[in-house]
Amino acid sequence: MHRRITGKLVVATHNPGKLAEMRELLAPHGIEAISAGELGLGEPDETGDTFLVNARIKAVAAAEAAQLPAFADDSGLVVDTLDGAPGILSARWAGPAKDFGAAMSRIERLLQERGAKEPAQRKAHFVSALCVAWPDGHLEEVEARADGTLVWPPRGTAGFGYDPMFLPDGHGRTFGEMTSIEKHGLPPLGLGLSHRARAFVKLAEICLD
Ligand code: IMP
Repeated sequence: MHRRITGKLVVATHNPGKLAEMRELLAPHGIEAISAGELGLGEPDETGDTFLVNARIKAVAAAEAAQLPAFADDSGLVVDTLDGAPGILSARWAGPAKDFGAAMSRIERLLQERGAKEPAQRKAHFVSALCVAWPDGHLEEVEARADGTLVWPPRGTAGFGYDPMFLPDGHGRTFGEMTSIEKHGLPPLGLGLSHRARAFVKLAEICLD
């Protein structure tokens, strides 16, 4: 049985952008999002080897510490020709300086080393895993992906991370060339394209009134 989220929900992130995104999503459902940062909760080590396990580690730690239901997400870019890299290491490939120009150049160098010139050899997808954990141990988990092709050179200055080299299937502009509403917004306002938008829709279906 799926469980509905009601009342207060801890959002286990120290990233203000993710918190704002969650607040917007949850407000129409009458749910108050409190950030792990506001509660002074620590950040557990992401020791899992899948996106879902890492989201679960963060949600369970926050639910136990706050004794409230808690939400966490984990995401990244999976490149087929690179055996799934950078995957769960997507943020780490940018290093402490969060240099995604360097991380994108690394991906392109590795693709060139493998002779990946044709679009079919440059397939990639973003993954978003979401977990809501309750203090009694109940879990709700969803995962969604956005499929596309990696282009070079990167295009566009909108978005973040690997957006400028990701051309979503069926579209002529990269995520870096799309507005945030186009990329993340849900229909009818946006295209509901991103992995995170799709995962939120799935979570809303099972957990929100
Ligand atoms: P985390 O989910 O905060 O652990 O970070 C995942 C990393 O994956 C981010 O730092 C980005 O590098 C990358 N990533 C996740 N979602 C996106 C996206 O929508 N666009 C571009 N990069 C993303």
